[in-house]
Amino acid sequence: MAAKNARPADKEIAVVRNILKKGKIVCLTGAGISYESGIPTFRGNGGLWETYDPEVYGNMPGLVSIFRKSPEKLVGFISDFYNVLLQAKPNPAHLCLSYLEKSSLLKAVITQNIDNLHQQAGTRSIVELHGNAFRVRCRSCGATLKLEKDRVKEMVSLLKKARSSRVEVLKIFSRYCPRCLKCKGRFRIDIVLFGEQLDETDLSRSRELLDDCRALLIVGSSLVVYPAASLPLYAKERGAKIIEINSQPSALSDICDFKIMGAATEILPEIIRVL
Ligand code: NAD
Repeated sequence: MAAKNARPADKEIAVVRNILKKGKIVCLTGAGISYESGIPTFRGNGGLWETYDPEVYGNMPGLVSIFRKSPEKLVGFISDFYNVLLQAKPNPAHLCLSYLEKSSLLKAVITQNIDNLHQQAGTRSIVELHGNAFRVRCRSCGATLKLEKDRVKEMVSLLKKARSSRVEVLKIFSRYCPRCLKCKGRFRIDIVLFGEQLDETDLSRSRELLDDCRALLIVGSSLVVYPAASLPLYAKERGAKIIEINSQPSALSDICDFKIMGAATEILPEIIRVL
């Protein structure tokens, strides 16, 4: 029987809990899940694009031109970008997803985030559509290497010291993004910038996961960035229930079967509390 003083979301929470209990869930996450870990959404208050123009700093030609004009500005951007990520820790929403995976209810997390927080929370099956800021990838053969937090801290500190010298800044980049031992290609930070293609393997793996899922749980995404935003419709066409947990309605709220508006760090723990 429903509690007398049930809040508006309580009913949805109970329904979503019953869906999650049946398993075969895939979760699609975006910047909002990491907001309460201290990482602002890029376009939100205090976000990176408030200080840095995404038309310049969000793509490789823009970054190269900034480096040529002013290596200090590029170093300032890299330092601001990493300082936020270095301080962040997984929050209860990341931990709930990890718990759901350990309970064999969640098949995988497909994330648009590059912050490595799902890994830190213990989730194992992750598709990172936009890469990972704590990894480098060979531009020629695609081989990857971890870029551990301590190495990133060291790189940022050295870059800051060398910031006015293009030659020194380049040397430091070459040290942390070396040549690939397999093919001699050049490594770079493994992040998909504006105008770049996503890895086709990651997209195929995402679709495979959605081909056989009972429900797609979307957490903290405005669903305006494609091709990630094409995945909910893909899942719905294959019969999955679509559940959205967002602080604001997303661009695809209309196709969602269940919407719970609020902070992911409150709603996910509430859902799994009695799972
Ligand atoms: P977005 O910024 O477009 O949307 C974030 C959504 O999260 C908002 O619609 C908002 O409703 C919701 N939200 C904010 N705080 C929330 C909270 N506490 N609980 C629940 N929901 C909350 O994010 P997006 O859809 O991921 O697209 C932006 C792009 O920027 C992505 O490509 C992503 O890779 C990148 N990005 C990543 C990070 C990160 O790695 N943490 C941070 C910023 C941006």
